[in-house]
Amino acid sequence: MQDAIVLGGGISGLTTGYLLQQKGLNFSVIEKNPFPGGPIQSVFKDGFLVEKGPNSLLVSDPWIESFISDLGIGNEIIDSNPAAVNRYVVRNSQPIPVPISPLQAITTRLFSLKAKFGFLGEPFRGRITELGEESESVADFVVRRMGSEFLDYAINPFVRGVYAGNPKQLILNHAFPLMRELEHEGGSLLRGAIKQKRRQKMRGTAYKNRSINFINGLDTLPKTISRKLGNRLWLSSEVVAINPVENGWQVTWKKEGENFEGFTRNLFVCLPSRSIKALNWASPISDWIAEAPDLPCPAVHSLALGYTRSDIAHPLNGFGVLVPSKEPHRILGALFNSELYPNRAPEDHCLLTVMLGGSQNPELREAPDEELLNIAKEDLASLLGASADPVFVNLTRWPYAIPQYTSAFGTWKKTIRSLEEDFPNLNFGGHAIDGIAMGASIMSGKALSERID
Ligand SMILES: Cc1cc2nc3c(=O)[nH]c(=O)nc-3n(C[C@H](O)[C@H](O)[C@H](O)COP(=O)(O)OP(=O)(O)OC[C@H]3O[C@@H](n4cnc5c(N)ncnc54)[C@H](O)[C@@H]3O)c2cc1C
Repeated sequence: MQDAIVLGGGISGLTTGYLLQQKGLNFSVIEKNPFPGGPIQSVFKDGFLVEKGPNSLLVSDPWIESFISDLGIGNEIIDSNPAAVNRYVVRNSQPIPVPISPLQAITTRLFSLKAKFGFLGEPFRGRITELGEESESVADFVVRRMGSEFLDYAINPFVRGVYAGNPKQLILNHAFPLMRELEHEGGSLLRGAIKQKRRQKMRGTAYKNRSINFINGLDTLPKTISRKLGNRLWLSSEVVAINPVENGWQVTWKKEGENFEGFTRNLFVCLPSRSIKALNWASPISDWIAEAPDLPCPAVHSLALGYTRSDIAHPLNGFGVLVPSKEPHRILGALFNSELYPNRAPEDHCLLTVMLGGSQNPELREAPDEELLNIAKEDLASLLGASADPVFVNLTRWPYAIPQYTSAFGTWKKTIRSLEEDFPNLNFGGHAIDGIAMGASIMSGKALSERID
């Protein structure tokens, strides 16, 4: 009987495992893929360093920094170029810088004069009744507080960039709980943000977020943890069944056609929702999980394109460009990788990552590679002045990319939390429950590891 078995060797499961190891506990981490880290995969090819999945880790909690240092890879961190504060959003087929100062907010061409006057009224708009909050969508919230132009040209492209999602389907309380907190705290987003900043300053907890990567790519993080875990990490091992036994759990997994069994006092489930639903759970857990709705998970295609630098007219002086759904373009956006981090492209070249698909473009789920490439080339020609074909192409398809925190998430989360209450040694974490970014999954792993001594 082990102290713990962790299901899933994505970043949440790996973090959990590493922290259990630090406590001297006896555990295993079981991962289906032959490599660790889920979508966190970096490849060097033809002089380009491509991120197939996530491109940056947003560090919003100082604990993540110390975690990375503990792992011995603090010296491999690279911060994004300071120019990355510039972000572009497309309006009338032109990439327009998102305002980052009060003066820019007044002069920007991203919003009409009428919309700008509308923003001034934000602090005076009322709060919704308690009853409506649970089901208020991101789109409804933003229109209520900031007006429809802010939805179309700020939040819609942002949500497409982060969730590859649709703000009309995402529920604010689940998808952006911080925005709700601000409204609660200050009665408005603006007053809430000011109050929160002041409080953090007084408590000395203010922290400046960092957007980071590593010299050799983001997968430095999962690869390092996996080396530390050694043979406690089972790769190419697919968990198929879970059965409660006296004082714990029996876990069955398949590796190279053979069945393995492990017994544990504590179970940590760090799997996507569809994998949780696909497991063979013993009754009555099976009934609960079967009844819970699965989370929608749209396909996203990550298309890394290398260009000769002089073939792109745009200065690429920023994080990237996002495309609102109102605009007549089909990409979700493009990241300026080689401007963000050094050594992502050979000299005199640049590397861009174009994202396609998402909830608002389901027709692209099965689109052939050539169609995806043509859409990207056409949009980059029009938006960034790409005057020649890319010299490097690397396409990664993510059929189930990012779970959408829609109304289904509310029911799903209730089921998961009820299971945890009824079975105190059954714990769930990762993006199926604790937030959709890498940083959230790392913090989720930390929280899971704190549930046992
Ligand atoms: C294209 C793309 C771009 C992204 N960009 C960013 C970004 O720039 N910044 C950011 O912060 N986040 C980004 N994300 C999100 C980020 O990658 C995830 O939030 C994070 O990696 C989730 O980690 P996790 O451990 O919670 O889940 P996962 O990484 O999904 O881990 C779950 C693991 O369980 C394994 N598994 C599944 N079923 C079984 C089974 N039956 N048995 C054993 N193992 C199983 C899977 O193989 C997987 O490794 C992006 C995601 C994608 C897809």
